[in-house]
Amino acid sequence: MSWITEEIVDGKKEKALNIVLPTKGCSYNKCYMCSYSLGITPKENLLEVVKNELENREVKKIKIFTSGSFLDSKEIRYEDQIEIFDYLSQKDIKEVTIETRPEFVDKEHLKKLKNTLNKNLEIAIGLESANDYVLKYCINKGFTYNDFLDATEILSALEIKIKAYVFLKPLFLTEYESILDSVKTCEKIEEIVDSVSINSMAIHKKTLAEYFWQRGEYKLPWIWSLIYVLNEIADLDFHTICHPVALGKRRGTHNCGKCDRDLGKLIAEYSLKNKKIEYYHECKEEWEKILKREW
Ligand code: SF4
Ligand SMILES: [Zn+2]
Repeated sequence: MSWITEEIVDGKKEKALNIVLPTKGCSYNKCYMCSYSLGITPKENLLEVVKNELENREVKKIKIFTSGSFLDSKEIRYEDQIEIFDYLSQKDIKEVTIETRPEFVDKEHLKKLKNTLNKNLEIAIGLESANDYVLKYCINKGFTYNDFLDATEILSALEIKIKAYVFLKPLFLTEYESILDSVKTCEKIEEIVDSVSINSMAIHKKTLAEYFWQRGEYKLPWIWSLIYVLNEIADLDFHTICHPVALGKRRGTHNCGKCDRDLGKLIAEYSLKNKKIEYYHECKEEWEKILKREW
């Protein structure tokens, strides 16, 4: 599976190819909101997949998603990782992004990968929150903020760009608490990361999040909350992107249904320029009432 997005690469708007590699999926696989590994039919020859997806595509950036961690040798053998990087190094692209959990950031292996790839390398880590309480009890992330910091130290030493995924509205937080947590997380990592991707909850099948959502005990975040976070962090010293999954749909972040589409477009524009979003629709007042009840 693949799709094209527009991204800023070396300060210019460029086309990026997003590829989901059919690996066996995340070897951790315990986060409360995630079932990425469900229903994947893993393929043996991942290099072939990359080659096929890239064929005849004019892009300057490639983002490889694995429904887990590219650097996890249980998911992609080290020799296959090198092979893919070797192939990409021969292509006319400027930047490659992969994603990983922090425990798979190994300095010696990364040195080899970096030497193979003669492009900018960006590594994305799904930090979600810089609050260990939220990581443990609301997400079941299986690592701490310090584990993230250890990994970023290695990445910085190797001059690899760092992206962090920050999550909006995990289980067991109110709308208000989740906004605060996302903003505080971004402020805490401002000096450490080059870019942030804000990811708001979407309900995956067969997850604890789905269990509570189906019983009416979890409510998906409003798009207003997402916009509030994006506006609060617009002037921080990193680039922010936001491509919310299932925006405006039943299982995704949504508002009243009338303003969702417009706001989706504004969020896409925000991802390029990081300019604050100004927009009003009457449902904003209901959202404000909810927040006032919660603080
Ligand atoms: S969110 Fe990431 S780390 Fe957590 S289970 Fe899903 S793929 Fe694995
Ligand atoms: Zn509305």
